Amino acid sequence: MKKKQTRRWEIAQKGEETLPVVRQGRELLTDSLLNKGTAFSMEERDKLKIRGLVPPRCVDMETQAHRIMNNYNWKTSPLEKFIYLSSLQDRNENLFYKVLMENLIEMTPIVYTPVVGQACQQFGHIYRRPRGMYFSTADRGKFREMMDNWPRNNVDIIVVTDGSRILGLGDLGTNGMGIPIGKLSLYIAGAGIYPSRTLPVVLDVGTNNENLLNEPLYLGSNHNRLTGDEFYEMVDEFVQAAKDRWPMALIQFEDFTNDHAFPLLEKYRDNTLCFNDDIQGTGAVILSGVIGAMRILKNKLAEQKVVFYGAGSAGIGVADMIVAGTMEEGNLTAEEARKNFWFFDSKGLVTHQRDGDLTEHKIPYARNDEFLPTLLDVVKSVKPTILMGLSGQPQTFTKEIIKEMQKHTERPVIFSLSNPTSKSECTAEQAYKWTNGNAIFVSGSPFDKVEFDGKTYIPGQGNNMYIFPGVGLGASTCQATKVTDSMFYAAAKTLAYMVTDSEFETGTVYPDLTKIREISASIASAVCRTAYAEGLAQLPIPDDIMSFIQSKMYHPDYPKYVLDEED
Ligand code: NAD
Repeated sequence: MKKKQTRRWEIAQKGEETLPVVRQGRELLTDSLLNKGTAFSMEERDKLKIRGLVPPRCVDMETQAHRIMNNYNWKTSPLEKFIYLSSLQDRNENLFYKVLMENLIEMTPIVYTPVVGQACQQFGHIYRRPRGMYFSTADRGKFREMMDNWPRNNVDIIVVTDGSRILGLGDLGTNGMGIPIGKLSLYIAGAGIYPSRTLPVVLDVGTNNENLLNEPLYLGSNHNRLTGDEFYEMVDEFVQAAKDRWPMALIQFEDFTNDHAFPLLEKYRDNTLCFNDDIQGTGAVILSGVIGAMRILKNKLAEQKVVFYGAGSAGIGVADMIVAGTMEEGNLTAEEARKNFWFFDSKGLVTHQRDGDLTEHKIPYARNDEFLPTLLDVVKSVKPTILMGLSGQPQTFTKEIIKEMQKHTERPVIFSLSNPTSKSECTAEQAYKWTNGNAIFVSGSPFDKVEFDGKTYIPGQGNNMYIFPGVGLGASTCQATKVTDSMFYAAAKTLAYMVTDSEFETGTVYPDLTKIREISASIASAVCRTAYAEGLAQLPIPDDIMSFIQSKMYHPDYPKYVLDEED
């Protein structure tokens, strides 16, 4: 009897659905997940009808990566490097992730902030190939149908933006697509989410950016942003359609303006597997830095007095997370934990006196204290142990303020988090110099190491990338029904306890980012354990959570083409 032959891909990406038709010939070379370029073996070239379609010599992935790095290094501008890496991602994703992971520290600022910001601004000009999905106002009513156009049956993580507040660049409309793409690249490189199981999305609700509306090369809808109910209805159509097609997928909200970010989080956090990285991811990474500082100071969260300079989405998100951490640590109520927080915004100390002009998210933090108009007044009156800068206002943590702080606390904890570096409330060097090397300093954007008084200090950077990949991996792997504050607290604590004593000695409160895979696996395990403890995981509990997580992580490698013989 004649043997029946079936062909399949043994895909390094475990969990990838079986491809119904084995692609071959040119079609195969244009599939970025299956394409190996010059690395196809001669046997594969014959069986897959690509002999002659690629140059004769077969090379391995190492050699290909070497060629990529040569080309990459020839590019002189960061934007050219971005374009080069994007086109590699579009033609050969496994090779892209190999190169990205091997050069993570150098390439993260290219595939993500700050260069991705420039790429978003130029999106209509540098656009080459589609990636991800777009849902526009004109598509309303058809979102569920459109979800079926996505070629993959399994999606684990969706990152969605409406492009309304891209990094610090404001409303970029559909050009914001660079952000979900970049963020998902970090999910894949940092936590081993399978590339085929990620979906970047832009909700094109319009733009209020007049330059874009008048720009012939702009690729989004040509009208102003939807507002009010129309906006929320459109987001809801998207969320429900995504949940219907991929009930287990985690939705990460990204770069929505504050007036929408908080209400959307409130609307979906208890009924949808989702989170907002700007609010919760930032909160958790900063909480981790604070826990790290507590490890150095051998002190407790509940004993700190925290002054926030800036009360926007990042400030409130950070405070909420530290409150959640303080509650977990000391078994306190939210009200008790909030007693140690003071907020200062563009109008001064946030007090109940100002109730009329306070947005809803500030009210829980409004104080009954006397109104104070300057940060120096607040520092004098409160005597904070921790100063958080999330204002976007450069050089506002002055020498006088830092010196005043140090009068009451030997080792001031200073988080100068505004991005980019030029907006930082003070520099690392200033913080160390003004405190005689005693500050525990964390920035939002990277600062070079500082030599002071014969010692080298390495300032910590509160980079969300420490947290979100592990949280996403953990929540999606155990099929959690929602992402809770306790999961973020577990993530923050895990991260803080991964810092070694020798890292602490250099002044940082974060571990080396090159350990991101190990960090993400540990965070994912902690998130899973929390999900099981809270009864929110739908997958039966595995014997060894850490091994289970690790077994689910993607490592860049080529799929193997296999010819099976069946009787
Ligand atoms: P936002 O615009 O929502 O909030 C800014 C806040 O600063 C507002 O409360 C505003 O009233 C206040 N402010 C503005 N001018 C002020 C002044 N002169 N004095 C006092 N307060 C003033 O912005 P956001 O999203 O909350 O981000 C704020 C900053 O935090 C940005 O610079 C951003 O780069 C940074 N950030 C850092 C990280 C990180 O380090 N991981 C993450 C997110 C945001």
